[in-house]
Amino acid sequence: MARIPDMTSDCASCAALCCIALAFDEGEDFAIDKPAGLPCPNLDPQLGCSLYNRLEQEGFKGCVVYECRGAGQRVTQELFKGDTWRNSPEITQSMMEAFATMRRVHDGIELLLAAERLDLPASLEAEREDLLEHFAPEDGWTLEELEAFPQTSAPKRLSAFLPQLRDFV
Ligand code: SF4
Repeated sequence: MARIPDMTSDCASCAALCCIALAFDEGEDFAIDKPAGLPCPNLDPQLGCSLYNRLEQEGFKGCVVYECRGAGQRVTQELFKGDTWRNSPEITQSMMEAFATMRRVHDGIELLLAAERLDLPASLEAEREDLLEHFAPEDGWTLEELEAFPQTSAPKRLSAFLPQLRDFV
């Protein structure tokens, strides 16, 4: 049976993963360029944002609208037991990769939950439920399982499943 995780982002429980893992392009959404993997210069020592109350005014609208769907805190708390890349630099790469995969997993869960509202034929509904069990396993994820996930059949099956919903939207 699938276990749906909390998909509301909780920045206080996250190791600021979006603030290190994502790349920025200077422009309308970001005041600076930043490559993926480099911590944002606006991070404070506690991994809070020093611009938190004035992000838009300072040119960081992209941070205001970004939503990780709960992937960040899940990686930080469930997979790394609250550790951070700042305390343990050796886990930085692994944390960022886990964050990227968990975002994909949570995006998939959201799509599969949205599909529940459609009047699907039995075969598609069965595929939706089976996929949901792969994206939201009852026992959650270990780091090893999450790392292996992109190579499993589930992401490809989701890609094949979604276009089939067009007739039922
Ligand atoms: S500006 Fe603040 S919220 Fe945006 S990436 Fe930098 S530290 Fe994070």
